[in-house]
Amino acid sequence: MYLEAFSDNPYATNCWLLAGQGSEEAIVVDPGFSADRVRSLLRAAGKRPVAVLATHGHYDHVGAGAELCGAELPFYIHKEDELALSDPEAWGAGGAFAVGRPADVRTISDGDVLSLAGFDLEVVHTPGHTPGSVCFRTEDLVFTGDLVFRGTVGRYDFPNSSPKAMSRSLRRFLTFPDELEVYPGHQLPTTVAIERATNPYLQALA
Ligand SMILES: [Zn+2]
Ligand SMILES: [Zn+2]
Repeated sequence: MYLEAFSDNPYATNCWLLAGQGSEEAIVVDPGFSADRVRSLLRAAGKRPVAVLATHGHYDHVGAGAELCGAELPFYIHKEDELALSDPEAWGAGGAFAVGRPADVRTISDGDVLSLAGFDLEVVHTPGHTPGSVCFRTEDLVFTGDLVFRGTVGRYDFPNSSPKAMSRSLRRFLTFPDELEVYPGHQLPTTVAIERATNPYLQALA
């Protein structure tokens, strides 16, 4: 498996690039701010993007989405965060700026399975940080966006956050198998086992 990340932006937001071993096709999870950076990393690895996935609508995660997608690539985002692309004020994000809507937006819901680049990615709706926050999981790994980080969790004090929903979503994270590798929206990778054993926010729920 090919898995690469970069996070050199003002918010240290991780952009994840995923491809199968020996496959040219790559998935971009949270394109961040720099379409050029995504393209050059993939080109260097002999990969080409086939889809862009958003864990949620915050601009540090989806800023480069429209540019990266151009007219060709589909952009997947939960239906409750779709408005973030065009009208973050109405979405409830306060003073955020609109990042622009990719040409081919495909809205996703809990339980959807996206078959892309040889992977089956299940959409797990985990609201709280934003209404349309999702995790994308395969048998081996999960992209958690701003739900769970190494040793901490995402903020749930934005105008459109919900602490109650966050608690439910964190409990749902705890139902994931221990061996799942966790690739969060910020900071370093971890595993479900490590977070279950050491994350104080998750332990407070148990
Ligand atoms: Zn966020
Ligand atoms: Zn974030």
